Amino acid sequence: MTQPKSHPVKAYSARSAVSPLAPDSIPRREPTPHDVQIEILYCGVCHSDIHYARDEWHDFLPAVYPCVPGHEIVGRVTKVGAAVTKFKPGDLAGVGCLVDADPDCPHCRAGHEHFSPTQILTYGSPDKHLGGVTFGGYSEGIVVDQRFVLRVPSNLNLAGVAPLLCAGITTYSPMRQWGDIKGKKVGVVGLGGLGHMGVKFARAFGAHVVVFTTSPGKREDALRLGAHEVVLSRSADEMAKHAGSFDFILDTVSAQHDLNAYLHMLRTTGELTLVGAPSKPLNVDAFALLIGRRRLSGSNIGSIGETQEMLDFCARHNITADVEIIPIAKINEAYERLIKGDVKYRFSIDMASLKNEPVTR
Ligand code: NAP
Ligand code: ZN
Repeated sequence: MTQPKSHPVKAYSARSAVSPLAPDSIPRREPTPHDVQIEILYCGVCHSDIHYARDEWHDFLPAVYPCVPGHEIVGRVTKVGAAVTKFKPGDLAGVGCLVDADPDCPHCRAGHEHFSPTQILTYGSPDKHLGGVTFGGYSEGIVVDQRFVLRVPSNLNLAGVAPLLCAGITTYSPMRQWGDIKGKKVGVVGLGGLGHMGVKFARAFGAHVVVFTTSPGKREDALRLGAHEVVLSRSADEMAKHAGSFDFILDTVSAQHDLNAYLHMLRTTGELTLVGAPSKPLNVDAFALLIGRRRLSGSNIGSIGETQEMLDFCARHNITADVEIIPIAKINEAYERLIKGDVKYRFSIDMASLKNEPVTR
């Protein structure tokens, strides 16, 4: 296969696990027949961007540098390849964590691209077009096969739509897969980027929603976002009141924490699904699962079809992320604040701010 032509675009990259993100120039391919070229308007800042850029997941997914993070992308189509049928220039478009996978693999044929071993992540995966690795959304533009580009509803605030492409689908999918949570008691552990979306979806699906938080200052917000009850997880008394009562718990915590405390919250045959991805293993007390045949599972983003379904659901229910919009120059500060839990509840980068940034390397 001949290599497509490419052009440089501005981006922010990390050169190592310990270097701050800084302005850079990266190549993007000219659209091939099935490609959609997108000018990026907003990109959400996911905690996974930090885990990856700082190589915290080294044992599972070693980082490759330079690394351009960003997989919560919303933008406008600027050019399409000759065979593209889904999009035309001027359309809004979204890109999440995946940009390619072999359409003939059994998972993709079943509509489960997120299970495919051939999947290409938006950043850090081999780039079959240009060599090297794929680069993410902290950049002016991106070029993606139309199969992995989402239609973005025009009635929603775009800065708040960007985080739906990862935080949104990652919380929507496991609740949908669990079954009908209407009328069920659902817990969301951790009120961050994922957690606050989990609360909004659980409420929209008709569940009785309980937030577990380590942050007393988030209590009012949790109620405003849709929770019926809030539990301070560091209060043994508050925790004890809910023992053995949950049908489903979604755990979004990004760091080490006591999983067993939440397993004990489940009723008989209840299920806890992990979506948070701490870098070190979590301990599981066998008895917390054995008693009452409780279940512990995990979930990774969602399929492309499910992501479109989620975006359309958000359009109908007027759901977006609560965002703090930042210029790209504030990204290193945003990482430090995100680690401290100091954001309500997702940073969304206004990518127009990149246009004024000098490329220094
Ligand atoms: P985030 O905005 O930083 O939220 C994480 C929340 O966890 C914090 O707001 C905090 O909530 C709680 N938390 C943090 N440190 C804690 C600790 N030491 N003990 C107890 N609670 C703590 O992060 P995010 O972007 O939502 O991502 C959350 C996790 O999901 C990350 O590990 C990320 O990599 C992962 N993720 C997974 C997928 C997937 O497909 N499975 C997709 C995206 C992200 P409170 O202040 O309320 O306690
Ligand atoms: Zn993410």
